[in-house]
Amino acid sequence: MSSDSIDFTALPRSDLTDDGGKVLDGLLCVTPDIAGAVAEAMAQGYAVMPAGGLTSAIGSFDYAPGSVAERFKGVVAIRPKGALTAELVDAPLEALRSFQVSIDVERGLVSAGAGLTFNQVNAALAEHVGPTARVLIDLTSVGSAYVGGVVATGAMGPLRLRPSVTLAAVCLADGSQPRRIEGEAVGAVEGLQGWTGMVTAATFRFFLVPAGEFGLVLPVQGSDVDAVAGLLAWLEPWTRITLPVPGGRIEGEVLLNGVELVSRDSLESFIEHAQDPARSKAQGLLQSCEYAGADMLACLTGWSEQSVDDVLYGLMDPETETIGGVMIDFGVGFSSGAEMETFRAIREGAPDLARTRARVTPPGKLKPWTTSTDVNMAMPADSAALSDVLSAYADYRAAIRALGRELLGTVEVELSTYGHLSPAGIDPHHRVTLFAPQGGEGALAGARHAVAANKRTLIHDLLHAAERHGGRVTGGEKGLPSLVEIARAAGGEGRLPDELKRRFRLAKEVVQAAPSAFSFRAPAELRDAD
Ligand SMILES: Cc1cc2nc3c(=O)[nH]c(=O)nc-3n(C[C@H](O)[C@H](O)[C@H](O)COP(=O)(O)OP(=O)(O)OC[C@H]3O[C@@H](n4cnc5c(N)ncnc54)[C@H](O)[C@@H]3O)c2cc1C
Repeated sequence: MSSDSIDFTALPRSDLTDDGGKVLDGLLCVTPDIAGAVAEAMAQGYAVMPAGGLTSAIGSFDYAPGSVAERFKGVVAIRPKGALTAELVDAPLEALRSFQVSIDVERGLVSAGAGLTFNQVNAALAEHVGPTARVLIDLTSVGSAYVGGVVATGAMGPLRLRPSVTLAAVCLADGSQPRRIEGEAVGAVEGLQGWTGMVTAATFRFFLVPAGEFGLVLPVQGSDVDAVAGLLAWLEPWTRITLPVPGGRIEGEVLLNGVELVSRDSLESFIEHAQDPARSKAQGLLQSCEYAGADMLACLTGWSEQSVDDVLYGLMDPETETIGGVMIDFGVGFSSGAEMETFRAIREGAPDLARTRARVTPPGKLKPWTTSTDVNMAMPADSAALSDVLSAYADYRAAIRALGRELLGTVEVELSTYGHLSPAGIDPHHRVTLFAPQGGEGALAGARHAVAANKRTLIHDLLHAAERHGGRVTGGEKGLPSLVEIARAAGGEGRLPDELKRRFRLAKEVVQAAPSAFSFRAPAELRDAD
């Protein structure tokens, strides 16, 4: 579709739903020319809802239809046109269409259109640079989230690297001439959910990663926070990754690129729904949990040319013959190739299942209500500090379980725990989903309030733990929506730590300066002047 021929009145109604099942009330324009479509939509009086891979349930379609009707002809979701594979071109960032890539091998840079997935970007790098060339964006939806959406959400995976760590430039369209944003200024786009404009393309630094990959699963007792903290403090040196010059090789004999948590409950639910070979492997892991008397699995992933057995012994403390106090007898190793695929299927199965359950309304019940924690913390590799953080989560789990017992027979409370434990980015997601029978609206509302109050207490405790131990709360992987939630729990933006206060103020400034055709979706805290 050429942007100067868009007849908005002829566009189809969008039947898009976000990952939370919320339906977008608006028109849909799928185009390779995002900047052109944005300019025309705004000129014709439409508000713009940037859409990507639709894998996020946060910040997407949250706006008051009333305020749209007052000011705009309606909402148009502009979605970059994708393709089966990226098209390689030699073009500047500003000229890229949504499915094109341009690679500068000498400078170690890859520019990608907003409609590509990172799997597609990495496939282009593998073909044109070499099999180990990668953009270090490792969120688990790398095969479905789009480049534009990932930048807009500030998403991060097990490596806990925000896109801006490897992002060299972004091209933003907000109705005027599309403009290139570089350096620190990308902070005015990252995590802002498209409230200031639409990302048309982005340039990333790429690196060569070690060819070998491994996975290692260690059963741990989650309630023994000191033991888990000891494990994380011990592992910290292997989680430090020094980025070389763009295009360079990441060095290190053994590097941990993820320390992830999967609770035993989540593993059990996964086994009920999984297919082989993941199912039988997961059963094996459950057995390891049983033998070790553990309720959680610490899932380590990393890069190394060594065999997984050598990695295991390399991580071991020769004096105690443990890994940071955790016995290795029940550890399970996974090596490159198909085994790693199975490993990832198990590790990601738990969050996937929890998300899916929260989306589906069971017969005879109300639509489930769900909330997940998202507070990313960088903590020193100190057992006491880590233990304080883990204790706050253990208290939250205990409070939610107590609520579940209290509400037995009225509201079903489901808790699923998974996510990030690397000291460089601790963010173990605790998803609570509430199921109430038809007619149980009052009970569901009461339960929601109780969960929200417990979540505020958790966030408060985490902010204090960071302050006490010289750590940092760095926001969340959902960008500004997570930061707004943290600010609300802290009692207002004024009570945030300085770094977050600065980010909050910057977001306010750029949202207030943005065209209302984009900022209409932003939360009131950011839209309203002080
Ligand atoms: C299976 C699964 C695994 C996941 N794993 C992770 C994970 O490991 N880490 C993590 O952080 N998140 C994860 N997520 C959440 C989600 O994938 C991320 O938030 C992702 O960055 C969203 O990208 P998207 O292209 O799907 O954006 P969408 O969901 O389409 O949109 C998300 C937001 O970005 C805005 N937006 C989209 N495209 C643009 C654009 N071009 N310009 C400006 N704004 C835009 C939208 O308006 C919306 O506010 C996961 C989700 C799923 C379903």
